Amino acid sequence: MSSGPINDLIRSLSKIPGVGPRLAQRMTLFLLKNDKVAIHQLIGDLQNVRQRVHKCSTCGNFTELPVCHICTDAGRDSSLLCIVETVSDLWALERARFYQGKYHVLDGVLSAMENVGPDKLNLAPLLRRMHAGTIKEVIIGLSATLEGQSTLFYLIDLLKPFHVKISSLAQGVPIGGELNYLDNATLSTAFLDRRELSSVAAETKISEPGTRVSAQDTSSEPDTKKLSA
Ligand SMILES: [Zn+2]
Repeated sequence: MSSGPINDLIRSLSKIPGVGPRLAQRMTLFLLKNDKVAIHQLIGDLQNVRQRVHKCSTCGNFTELPVCHICTDAGRDSSLLCIVETVSDLWALERARFYQGKYHVLDGVLSAMENVGPDKLNLAPLLRRMHAGTIKEVIIGLSATLEGQSTLFYLIDLLKPFHVKISSLAQGVPIGGELNYLDNATLSTAFLDRRELSSVAAETKISEPGTRVSAQDTSSEPDTKKLSA
């Protein structure tokens, strides 16, 4: 591709995830065909995002404030913490509107291939939050990829000393699936059917909604509720 302002813009836009060269061309033509107001608006928005938005010092969400609106929302359950890989995953859960706890954004997952170790993840603020003692349950909401699952086991070990309930997303997340591509129904099913990992509940029938009954519990009735749903 030759240089020049049009091709430079196409090249820049095509670097955005999900935007290939053809879509970048369409976006460039749209901006050229529309009056200059659209371009000035876009330039202003980009500058505002760059200058005013940063990561929440508590959870890692993007915000214009020192601490984001979710962390400061007194109406949300501070005893419940959901750990996600990216802000995009946090937005996906917020769109589904069923979760009312707090979040923690890891900013990635462990990956030997991409040289991502624990030092590259947003773990220090997570440990500070755990030490504060308010959190009673941690829901690990990572993608069902190899890296996501190895990060899950790393987090279980890391959080074990805090003696909190630890659960992870269950049904609904396909193998190899990424959280931010799931529809709301699949996401909410996975969330509500999360399973506890921090304690062995083999002999205990737990009637709490969203908690699995042990497979060894032969006294339980068939799960007709799910079948008829
Ligand atoms: Zn926050």
